[in-house]
Amino acid sequence: MSVKPIDPRKAIPKWVLEYSELQRRGISLEIVLKPPYVWRTPLGPYHGHPHTAKVVKSSSREADIYENLRSHAGAPANHTLPCDVLRSATEPSLLVMPCVKEFLTLWFESWTLIQLLDIFRQLSEVGLEFLHANRVAHLVWMSTTCHFDPYSFDVFSAGMALQQIAEWAYAEREQPWIVRRYIQWLIGSERGCTGVCTCRPTAQRAAKYSQSSNG
Ligand SMILES: [Zn+2]
Repeated sequence: MSVKPIDPRKAIPKWVLEYSELQRRGISLEIVLKPPYVWRTPLGPYHGHPHTAKVVKSSSREADIYENLRSHAGAPANHTLPCDVLRSATEPSLLVMPCVKEFLTLWFESWTLIQLLDIFRQLSEVGLEFLHANRVAHLVWMSTTCHFDPYSFDVFSAGMALQQIAEWAYAEREQPWIVRRYIQWLIGSERGCTGVCTCRPTAQRAAKYSQSSNG
């Protein structure tokens, strides 16, 4: 029987497994979430509180941004996951945070409109409005060659994420008009603005309307 070689991208690097602060905290990473940067501990009743660890690239300001957001820990709108920045003299920094739940294990098909609108509120109010108020853009999926207004791009990305969630939730049902309309408002219709983008609402406006649609 031939033994398949292990894909190095699916292995957790030795320096991560031996990171002294992880060992001191008893955090034992076993699952690869996004190779070669993000891993987590196993989920389940026998494994304690699950954690996720992510390598901070040397060119990234992510660790500084997290430390800055933590300084606003008491702000009511700050729902950032509690994240510790582990620094080492010889290795890259690591971000360590609780692993809340696997997103795709949520049963969107059984969600009510109220639950879905609450997700919209959380994403726009908690996810974006707070970050943008602190002059942080999330920029997931944005390529370095993209010249969008970064804050507007975040609203566009939120619209795309909500569109996917709505498709899961309403796979067997017709989407309510309020869901379709809100998502389309966030996605907007890009006209190629070279300065501040006016093709979609700001995060603050999107949050305001998501609150009112939640009643
Ligand atoms: Zn625009």
